[in-house]
Amino acid sequence: MNKVSLEARHISLSYGTTEVLRDINLKIEPGEFFALLGPSGSGKSTLLRLIAGFSQHQRGELLVDGQDITRIPPHARNIGMVFQSYALWPHMTVWDNVAFGLVERRETRDAIRRKVGAALELVGLGDYGKRRPGQLSGGQQQRVALARTIVIEPRLLLLDEPLSNLDKNLRVQMRDELKHLQRKLGLTTIFVTHDQEEAMTTADRMAVLDKGVLQQTGPATSLFDFPVNRFVAGFVGTAN
Ligand code: ADP
Ligand code: MG
Repeated sequence: MNKVSLEARHISLSYGTTEVLRDINLKIEPGEFFALLGPSGSGKSTLLRLIAGFSQHQRGELLVDGQDITRIPPHARNIGMVFQSYALWPHMTVWDNVAFGLVERRETRDAIRRKVGAALELVGLGDYGKRRPGQLSGGQQQRVALARTIVIEPRLLLLDEPLSNLDKNLRVQMRDELKHLQRKLGLTTIFVTHDQEEAMTTADRMAVLDKGVLQQTGPATSLFDFPVNRFVAGFVGTAN
C-alpha cells in the first residue's frame, strides 16, 4: 500500500460568524500515527470532517501527497473515517456491514469475499460474520466499524474518538490493538481524542487544538516536557 502525506495550509472554517478553525497549518508524514488532542468543542471533528470532504473550509489548501483535494467530493477521496458511535446497520449481519462499501463499488463476489474475510480476521472477528451488531459487545462493534473502514483500502484513516464509548479497560486494550493494526497496515492516521494518555501512548506526534487554533505540534514527549503555553501544559501535562 502506498503511504500518503497530508498537509493543511492556512485552513479556516466558519459557521456563520463563528470561526471554528483558524489558520490551521499541519503536515502529517506518510505512515504516521498522528493524534489530535483538544477539549470538547475545540474543532477536532470539524477538522476531520473537512479532511473527509463532509464540510468545506473557506480559506486555505488541503493537500494529499502535494495535491489539493479541496474540490474532490468525499466518495472520491478514498479516505476512511471511524466515529465514536459505531454507526453500523443493525438489521444487517457483520459480514454485510463490512461488505457494503465494496458492494457499492461493484467489486466482484470473489474480491468481496476475500477482502471482507481478511478485514474481519485483521480485527479478530473472523468467526462473527453471521452475527448482527446487536449481538456484539461495544468493543466488538467498534472492531466491525474499523473493519468496514479498512476494507475499502483507504489512503488515510481518520478516527474520531473511536474508543470514547468503551469502558476504561477495554479502551486500553483497544488502543493497543489500534496501534498494532495501524503499524501493520502502515496507514497514515489521524486519531482524535480528548484523552491525553491515549494520545501519548499511541501517537508518533500529536497536536493540541483549542478554540479552533492549533496550540502546539510535535512528538508527544516534547509537548509533555516543553509545553509552549499554559493551556498545553494543563491539557497534556500532569496537571490534567
Ligand atoms: P470537537 O469535535 O472538538 O468537540 P467540533 O468540531 O464538533 O468540536 O465543534 C467545534 C465548534 O463548532 C463547536 O463550537 C460547535 O458547536 C461548532 N459546530 C460544529 N458543527 C457545526 C455546524 N454544523 N453548525 C454550526 N456550528 C457547528
Ligand atoms: Mg468531536
